[in-house]
Amino acid sequence: MKQPANANANSVYDYLFIGLGAANSLLILNLYKNGLLDGKTIAVIDPSSKFTDDRTFCFWSTREELVALNLEELVSASWDNIEIAGVTKHNIQPLKYYHIRGVDLSNKTKEVLSLNEVIYYPYSIGVIEKTKPEYFNISVGDSLIYCAKVFDSRPPSYCKLQKNQSHIYQSFFGWKIKTIRNIFDTTSMVMMDFKIPQSDSTQFIYILPFEEDRALVELTRFGENKLSKEESLTILSDYVKQLGVDFEIIEHEVGIIPMSSGKIDVPDLGLDWINMGTRANLLKCSTGYAFHAMAEDAIMQTEAIKANRLSARVSRKGRFVFYDRLLLKLLSKTSEQGKNIFETLFKNVPMVNVLKFMREKTNFSEELLIFSKLPKRIFIEAAVKDIIQETFRLPIITLPIAFTLITILLSWYNIEFISWVVLALGFLTVGLAHGALDHLTSQKILNSKELFYFVIGYLSKAVLFALVWWLSSDTGLVIFILFSAWHFGQADFKEWRFKEGSSSFFWGLVVLMMILFFHGEEFINILQQIPNLSYLSVDKMSEKLFLGLQILTISGGLFLAMIYKSKYILLTLIYLLLASMLPLLMAFGIYFVGQHSISGWKHLSVGLRKGSSTMWVNSLPFTLGGAFIIFYFLWFAVGNYIGIFFIILSCLSLPHVFSMHNFYRLFPNKK
Ligand SMILES: Cc1cc2nc3c(=O)[nH]c(=O)nc-3n(C[C@H](O)[C@H](O)[C@H](O)COP(=O)(O)OP(=O)(O)OC[C@H]3O[C@@H](n4cnc5c(N)ncnc54)[C@H](O)[C@@H]3O)c2cc1C
Repeated sequence: MKQPANANANSVYDYLFIGLGAANSLLILNLYKNGLLDGKTIAVIDPSSKFTDDRTFCFWSTREELVALNLEELVSASWDNIEIAGVTKHNIQPLKYYHIRGVDLSNKTKEVLSLNEVIYYPYSIGVIEKTKPEYFNISVGDSLIYCAKVFDSRPPSYCKLQKNQSHIYQSFFGWKIKTIRNIFDTTSMVMMDFKIPQSDSTQFIYILPFEEDRALVELTRFGENKLSKEESLTILSDYVKQLGVDFEIIEHEVGIIPMSSGKIDVPDLGLDWINMGTRANLLKCSTGYAFHAMAEDAIMQTEAIKANRLSARVSRKGRFVFYDRLLLKLLSKTSEQGKNIFETLFKNVPMVNVLKFMREKTNFSEELLIFSKLPKRIFIEAAVKDIIQETFRLPIITLPIAFTLITILLSWYNIEFISWVVLALGFLTVGLAHGALDHLTSQKILNSKELFYFVIGYLSKAVLFALVWWLSSDTGLVIFILFSAWHFGQADFKEWRFKEGSSSFFWGLVVLMMILFFHGEEFINILQQIPNLSYLSVDKMSEKLFLGLQILTISGGLFLAMIYKSKYILLTLIYLLLASMLPLLMAFGIYFVGQHSISGWKHLSVGLRKGSSTMWVNSLPFTLGGAFIIFYFLWFAVGNYIGIFFIILSCLSLPHVFSMHNFYRLFPNKK
């Protein structure tokens, strides 16, 4: 490979390979084999000229698969048996465990590239832009280069971990040794030998016996802490010493592989920017194996280029992602269990089945059989925790949808009181409580005196609004509807990360109208319970009028769903429509508690940087105060409970809407 003759030259390339590690090397070999490099202008960017020289690659496959993956001529050793020292040793036919030296892969790739006019930029990649649809403009060193198709294998970074995700390391430190006597069994590789100190992690020795007097003996650790050179030297030399034979060290292999169930954080740069290898999530995080998957992927990418179509990677099956997450969680939180988990697994499950499982080729019943052989308690505990945490990560809208469907089901069996109880609890614990945190959103409260003035100001707004109701129920009702629409729309749009304004207000109106107009009779009934409503001649609202209003409301909602291309808007419309089969108060409660208050609670938790339990404690005095006010007035309401309930709710809501509006102005528009 040549370096650019003129560092400032602006060059145009058909293919750019960023990183010449395993993934891109495998791809290049396949492209070459298919004649797809012929006549192409090619560049490679890699700041390190080690490429894959510093590592060796192992994987298992059948011979046919090996040939199909074009790896046969790279293989330098293979084994028929896999041993878990002191536990089991299995012949893995028709599979074999294969070994490829990184340096052979790297040399072969360089040989292929030398047949083409390939320019090598020994730098890290700089700024990437796309000013024309056909090319990416990339600055590298002092040059600006233009590339049509990019294969990017830079090591990725990871998104912030969710609670149920883990990020640990597989670190290893190995010696290729030559012993003075023949001591190794060349038909068997040792995948794991746990007869070493575990040092608060999961660690084992991995042995690849190339000849009877030559082997790679490698200390491997799965854990949050990486192996240090000193501890590796101690453990490894103790281990080799107990082999009882003199030896010399011929080579070293040192490495770190991230084992992360976190999401890989790579930008989407379009269809012609193809992430490769670890960056494309091809490394199985619970094992650290990637080579076989990358070899398969190289074939797939080559086929796609040959057929001039897009390369569509099949995403991993969700259940394997779940299993990996569980194992990594156990390895990171209870690393002392690792030895027990692996030894139990290999003792009780045939090796070929484990290998099939590790390759994600098992079916569900095979997986159940494997799990039945594992230590059950720790896995069940981890699974339950994971499922709960995943449930909390579901979009909020899942809750009101599920609640609506369950309540409809319960109402068929006349046991919908269960939903009423849950809703009442939800109203007290989240509905009222999310409004009882307004004192925390105010920037001005620094001491109890200021808190006192805040409460007085807050209650004054409520009393003033009660006065408006008293003077003119019509005005009170209109104001209530308008600010509720504003507030509901604001919270939903904040949750869905849309810009607030007139559209969010319009959405809030749609929500309210969906609830009210689809419960025409009950709506009229409530209006009739509001004292002194005059200009609404509520008796005269005809069915036709309601039908028209319903159509208008749904059309408005669908219009917004279309404009914002939002499945959330659509789903809200659907469950509100379904909720028309339930009483109005239930439909309102489902939206108010299940969607609005929970979103608000979440925003407050993020904005105030407080956990739910702290927020509950903080909200308790005002929640109790709010509950007392509501029950006090309901006590005196005779016959028109619902009307009074809405009036009190509106009075308590008005100051809350102001507080939340101020809070949302400061609250950053991201989750
Ligand atoms: C020591 C070791 C041994 C392994 N053994 C096995 C094994 O036996 N079996 C198995 O299945 N898996 C194994 N793996 C895991 C996996 O197969 C390898 O990590 C593999 O190399 C991943 O391929 P890759 O192309 O994604 O990354 P890499 O091979 O690491 O290649 C990435 C390339 O990008 C370059 N680069 C970095 N930053 C930049 C930048 N800013 N701009 C441009 N280029 C950049 C790097 O120099 C490197 O050449 C091993 C990993 C290690 C570390």
